[in-house]
Amino acid sequence: MTLWFIRSAIWWSGLVLVCAGLLPCLSAAAGPAGPRIDVLLWFDTEDYVLPASDDAAKQLAELLTERGVRATFKVVGEKARTLARRDRADVIAALQKHAVAYHTDFHSVHPTPSEYLAECGLLDGMAEFTRREGQGAADVRRIFRVKALACYGQPGSSWAPQAVAALGQIGVAPGGVPCYVDEGSHVGLNHQPFWYAGALNVYDMGANCTRMELHDPAALEPASKKVSAIADRLRREGGGLISIYYHPCEWVHREFWDGVNFARGRNPPREEWQRPPQRPAEETDAAFRRFAAYMDHIRAIPGVRFVTASDLPAIYPDLLRSDGATEQELDELAQRIGRSGRNGLDFQVIGRKAFSVADEFELLTLAVSGWTEGGRVRFPLAAKGLLGPDNPPPASREALRCSWPAFRDALRDTRDFVRRERRVPARVFVGADAVPPGDFLLGLASVWEHRRKSGTAPPLEGVALGNGVALLPARHIAPDTPGLFGGWVIHREGFRAPKILEVARLQAWTLKPALRRD
Ligand SMILES: [Zn+2]
Repeated sequence: MTLWFIRSAIWWSGLVLVCAGLLPCLSAAAGPAGPRIDVLLWFDTEDYVLPASDDAAKQLAELLTERGVRATFKVVGEKARTLARRDRADVIAALQKHAVAYHTDFHSVHPTPSEYLAECGLLDGMAEFTRREGQGAADVRRIFRVKALACYGQPGSSWAPQAVAALGQIGVAPGGVPCYVDEGSHVGLNHQPFWYAGALNVYDMGANCTRMELHDPAALEPASKKVSAIADRLRREGGGLISIYYHPCEWVHREFWDGVNFARGRNPPREEWQRPPQRPAEETDAAFRRFAAYMDHIRAIPGVRFVTASDLPAIYPDLLRSDGATEQELDELAQRIGRSGRNGLDFQVIGRKAFSVADEFELLTLAVSGWTEGGRVRFPLAAKGLLGPDNPPPASREALRCSWPAFRDALRDTRDFVRRERRVPARVFVGADAVPPGDFLLGLASVWEHRRKSGTAPPLEGVALGNGVALLPARHIAPDTPGLFGGWVIHREGFRAPKILEVARLQAWTLKPALRRD
């Protein structure tokens, strides 16, 4: 314990000197040379029933500000309106020193996002999420006076890909990049940040998500050891992100505010909302002291820095979006698809750029159609990013080889679709034949390869398409199990949402790792 404090004091005094009080002190806090370890500390700020949770949020925000730590407060719309109604300008001001983010309009009032999206497809689901959650997001922006919300994350296990895809439409896009931060197992990639459905996601962090039990007097030491061990492992792996989350109400309640009111589908009207039982002040105070010591321990770990959700787009820039793809990169993609595409399509990493299967589809559609129209393909080639298809692919036919003119005409239609709709088509028509987009992508790659090898002539032998090729990133979407949605106490016992997972698997077209700038 003493060691922590000494290390903390030395580390912190250095930090203060360099930062001179400026927040966020990203580069200064990077600490000794070596792999960087970022800690994303986020708070689901949601209890609009128990007034003591307002004070808890304020005390937390101030405790962190005093330590130069910026956290991410994901605020529920009704919580923001309640703070305004209760004249809690002091709470709002304390939270404004941190990154303000979003956590739905009403959180646990039914229907929750997974409940109202359970029967939706991609597009109607995005529209429904925007309709139901857009006003709350606008209220949080207005009440906290922020232009963009730093991220969004779902209540409980109420996840859906339509929410991820619609974040830009409700103003959850720091620096123009939609961000999703939460914890769950619906989708994930190696327990580190990833791109999915057009957003930067911190989700399914597995062993890189940790927390200290707030109300256990013996929790500090094992929790501190645990987070240090995670940092050590990440350092050996070249750096990475640690996710830590709490709810301000946890400091003051004995039971969650929503479990008291909305458990297992119950939906009492506002007049009947009950306050959860509160903890005695001494337990709350002890939890704050314990948490402060936990934070001081983390701050003292060499190379660790705290980041907020709004810092994520700068830490994980998508260089394909900013710089486009070079001709060499496109050649490499086409060759990789040619080599292994028949065994399944996957995202690809070339140098410091990651390409989702949707990126591969967009780039090859643009490049091959540019070439077929006789124009020069200008590199770097911009890929703005597509969503995945809105429907499952048609059944695959016997290995289809189509004539060059038929392929060329199908391509022209595909390019038009991609430009207008900004998503991968659910089916590509080659004449009367509906072809799965993955099968068509194999054709695109083979034509680009042909061009590279033979110059200008179109492939006279026709174009070979794939035959029901698999979309490999779909393996990163969770299977439909009883606990996946139904495990959250607010959902009805046994609540399942298989269609949400179907839509999610189609959006696996967009999945790729988020690569760090350094
Ligand atoms: Zn929540």
